[in-house]
Amino acid sequence: MPGFDHSYANLGKAFSTPQPPDPVSQPSVMLWNEDLAASLGWAGDPRSQPQFLQALAGNQPLPDSKPIATVYAGHQFGQYNPQLGDGRATLLGEWVDPQGNRFDIQLKGAGPTAYSRGGDGRSPIGPVIREYVVSEAMHALGVRTSRALAAISTGEPVIRNRVEPGGILTRVASSHLRVGTIQYFAMTRGGDELAPLVDYIVSRHFSETAGDPQSASHPTAAVTLLDGVCQHFARLTSHWQVLGFVHGVLNTDNALLCGETIDYGPCAFMDHFDPQACFSSIDRQGRYAWPNQPGIMHWNLAVLAECLLPLLHDDDETAKHTAQEIIDQYPARFHAHHQHWLAAKLGLDHLTDPDHSLIQRFHDILASHELDFTLAFRWLTEVANESLQHSPLPELFSAPEELSDWAEDWQRRRQLNTADPEDVTRAMQWVNPAVIPRNHLVQRGIDLAEKGELDWVERLVRRGRKPFEWQADDLEWARPPHEDERVTRTFCGT
Ligand code: AMP
Ligand code: MG
Repeated sequence: MPGFDHSYANLGKAFSTPQPPDPVSQPSVMLWNEDLAASLGWAGDPRSQPQFLQALAGNQPLPDSKPIATVYAGHQFGQYNPQLGDGRATLLGEWVDPQGNRFDIQLKGAGPTAYSRGGDGRSPIGPVIREYVVSEAMHALGVRTSRALAAISTGEPVIRNRVEPGGILTRVASSHLRVGTIQYFAMTRGGDELAPLVDYIVSRHFSETAGDPQSASHPTAAVTLLDGVCQHFARLTSHWQVLGFVHGVLNTDNALLCGETIDYGPCAFMDHFDPQACFSSIDRQGRYAWPNQPGIMHWNLAVLAECLLPLLHDDDETAKHTAQEIIDQYPARFHAHHQHWLAAKLGLDHLTDPDHSLIQRFHDILASHELDFTLAFRWLTEVANESLQHSPLPELFSAPEELSDWAEDWQRRRQLNTADPEDVTRAMQWVNPAVIPRNHLVQRGIDLAEKGELDWVERLVRRGRKPFEWQADDLEWARPPHEDERVTRTFCGT
């Protein structure tokens, strides 16, 4: 039977604080994720069953839920903050689905907690809609991510730069344990809880690589964790890069150890290719700009490693050496994933040295002509599959002569593929999306949702579920923004 469990709360008082959500006056359902509910074995539909609406609004407990707020720390834009924590989120519990998979179910925006630090613990509906739309689209794009089960309107105002309607997101993640969680117990507190915490995380997320504890070569839990996170970060970041996704706030408290993308604050997909793309209004130095994401996740990994030193070995030097060895594998791991993606996206069976100048030229052409990043790769896909005229693409994207010339060289290179050329060509369709959740679409969805019009957002979410195929009304969903629709700055909304 699916239901709630509370393994993290049971770790002990140091890790979290009981925290019932704060009731709201007039909740209503904005969005409900029927497919996700079904896959979780979650029976209650808040649209038809008032007790579930009340539960997801924080007005009434769910059977067997035991709400807590968890504590963590984090480097925010490089500065260590010794205590953050769930300031506007309540963890209802860990939902164990019919297959035995465990997911945190969290209400984000459910009122102040012990970790709110003067904040109101609330969220406007704008960030709730953004996170819902973008995280669900990311999932459909195949990116590991937290997901959205429900978006609730609270019926209460939230005061930011203006008065905004409030909302609550029901977020689902494999867990919300982050680099910042480890930092809190390693750096802020004395360190006594670090070893049990690491054991817990390894048993929850890395049991397959933990090996047999009876065997002599069995790695310590800290090594298993660091190496596992290194692999997750390398893979996840490579995926963000090839989709043109800019997370925007890659602080250590927003880097989940389970390797899922989390915290869709000022995130954005680039429309035209900008090799320095950076959207967040608070990221003035471009610390988290698109080209810096792989490096910053390496940095986040190094912070994790530093925290784990006391558990890596009793001898300081040996511990440092072990940590360094693992961290040093990140660039090669990232590179391998990234090359793999690039080859697949370009319909090349594998990349060799001369391919790099071909790829560089492609990116240079995209940058100098400000071509749409997503549609340019899709154009290659349709050209390779000889399907351009059967797609809406000619109405959405026109290739400048320089790109057509480049494509001739590219096609010549593709003739050297040794793997089954048809397979490689067909596979391009499954790595080059036609549709991404573009900023102007998300913004339009938010504007309409604020007026209580949810049909269009619902359609946007639905369209995002099939990103790799063309559909009838794609002149609406796939087109790049007009000049006056371009979103160049994004905001956290906290
Ligand atoms: P974020 O930028 O969303 O990762 O948030 C960073 C920290 O600020 C986390 O500890 C959040 O819980 C906290 N926080 C963000 N917004 C609020 C809010 N409105 N009220 C209380 N805490 C908040
Ligand atoms: Mg966060």
